[in-house]
Amino acid sequence: MSEERRNQREEKKKRRCRICGTRKAVIRKYNLQVCRRCFKEVAELLGFKKFD
Ligand SMILES: [Zn+2]
Repeated sequence: MSEERRNQREEKKKRRCRICGTRKAVIRKYNLQVCRRCFKEVAELLGFKKFD
C-alpha cells in the first residue's frame, strides 16, 4: 500500500502525455496518462465516445 502511494507521487512529479509528451493538461483517468488532445483520439479507440 505504501509502495502504491509512492508510485502515485512519482507519477505526479512527471506527468506527461504518453503519446505526444506534453505536460499540459495531462489526464490520468483510466490510467491513460495522455493530454486532452490525445485523449480524445485514444478515447475513441477505447470506446469512450461519450466522453467529450
Ligand atoms: Zn498528447
